[in-house]
Amino acid sequence: MIIAVDGPTASGKGTIAKALAKRFGLPHLDTGLLYRAVGWQVKLNGGDPDSEADAAAATGFHETLLTNPELRSEAVGGYASRVSVHPAVRKALFERQRAFATQAGGAVLDGRDIGTVIAPEADVKLFITASTAARAERRFREMRDAGREVQLEEIVAHLERRDERDKNRADAPLVVADDAFVIDTTDLDKDAAIAAAIEAVERARGLPPRV
Ligand code: C5P
Repeated sequence: MIIAVDGPTASGKGTIAKALAKRFGLPHLDTGLLYRAVGWQVKLNGGDPDSEADAAAATGFHETLLTNPELRSEAVGGYASRVSVHPAVRKALFERQRAFATQAGGAVLDGRDIGTVIAPEADVKLFITASTAARAERRFREMRDAGREVQLEEIVAHLERRDERDKNRADAPLVVADDAFVIDTTDLDKDAAIAAAIEAVERARGLPPRV
């Protein structure tokens, strides 16, 4: 079974994707991390994330970069969003994601274009969303708990900029797939959001609900 989990930044999609992978015994890929690695590699190379050539050259990043905690920072999220507009970058990362999605036994992938581009044949497509205020608040708490100095207003501005870029790029923009099940997590806590996602998967697969 392939489960595609798409949605904007800080919507809760990563948490939900991890929980679904655990519940259904499937491997999980956070595809945002690949774009973050490219974004950070461009910077390490002294390149410009807005240059398609610089960004394409950074897609050959070393695997160990994927475990670098710096990738989780807001700054790298911004670089990731900038490199992700380039078709050459999306093309270079396509095969890796596609192979993960189509491995024997299935997989859970979270990102922006899983249900639309990477695995349009996914058995279940979820689109996780939440208000900008709720997403900013979550990201703010996450960053603060990680000991990072951040301002809430700055996070709101970042989220809005990234949403704008992700939704309006020509190649694989962030859109809700026609057959996706939308879960709005604005008023849901973590457990309730996970429960809603599990229920959506069980319903889509015709599995009996848990008692
Ligand atoms: O999900 P995350 O915030 O880690 O993603 C970072 C950036 O990578 C996003 O803002 C988006 O521009 C890009 N991305 C993408 N396609 C994906 C996953 C992430 O374009 N499948």
